[in-house]
Amino acid sequence: MKNSLAKHKICLVVGDPIDHSLSPQMHSSGFKALGIDDRFVFLAAKVSIERVAYLVTSIKTLGILGVSCTIPHKTAVIDYLDEIDPVAKKIGAVNTLVNKEGQVKGFNTDWLGIVKPLEQLIEIKNKKVALIGAGGAARAVSYAINIKKGKLMIFNRSLEKALALAKEFNGQAFSLDQIAKVEEADVIINATSLGMKPEQNKTPVPKECLHKGQIVFDIIYNPMETRLLREAKSKGAKIIYGLEMLLEQGVAQFQLYTGYSAPVEVMRQTLIKCLEGNT
Ligand code: NAP
Repeated sequence: MKNSLAKHKICLVVGDPIDHSLSPQMHSSGFKALGIDDRFVFLAAKVSIERVAYLVTSIKTLGILGVSCTIPHKTAVIDYLDEIDPVAKKIGAVNTLVNKEGQVKGFNTDWLGIVKPLEQLIEIKNKKVALIGAGGAARAVSYAINIKKGKLMIFNRSLEKALALAKEFNGQAFSLDQIAKVEEADVIINATSLGMKPEQNKTPVPKECLHKGQIVFDIIYNPMETRLLREAKSKGAKIIYGLEMLLEQGVAQFQLYTGYSAPVEVMRQTLIKCLEGNT
């Protein structure tokens, strides 16, 4: 039999909840486009945080090739890895596990999901970048902006979290009361959950602070076009959809899992189709 399923290398996305994940569709469409779907398969598994200690052992036992980690495993799994990439260590989170001959190494590709789409439009160096949020995703954003020598301004509801992040990644911290200062920024990145379904009528930035000449990147991808992005577009700003972060972090994972360059456009169209089907 030509395409024996027994020979497939297995990749997974793990998290809790996991039903919403688009990683299986995104990666599977990439496998198919490259004609390697007879060698690789991508599935999802719900793994509760209480079970995280068994995750790496299970990967080794079952011979799983690669694992994409989402909430709540990105930090918790670190303690159980054989090795961690220095970038992931600095960010303090892994979103990608690769099993190489029984040794499981953790990587972080989320920061590339910020850098790649931004660099299509602008050189980050010396640009004022206003980051809203100081949670898990904001750590990858902060790393990305700092490593590319942008001027980082972090705004967060809990000021102490913004202060801690700013200290670590060479930024300035502000509370949300000072949000009007984002008007000075060349780039605004929303890394809060404000505006995500089912609260898509919310936005972290007043429309008056948005203007032409700015780039506004909302990392929320559900809905695909958030209120923030709609309002930014109406003021003449350039916008970047959260889908682009999801895509680029996945593109880097694809290469780590398979060794092949990912078919980016095919994977983008798959995400768009899935998200449009969600609206
Ligand atoms: P998280 O660690 O829980 O952080 C949530 C952030 O949102 C914190 O800064 C929190 O402020 C802020 N926040 C929540 N509710 C708020 C409210 N009502 N008013 C003001 N601020 C509020 O979550 P995360 O993992 O960083 O994820 C954040 C968002 O990014 C989610 O929407 C997620 O879907 C999205 N995301 C997208 C991608 C992608 O690939 N596109 C990847 C990762 C995450 P406090 O610190 O004050 O609580």
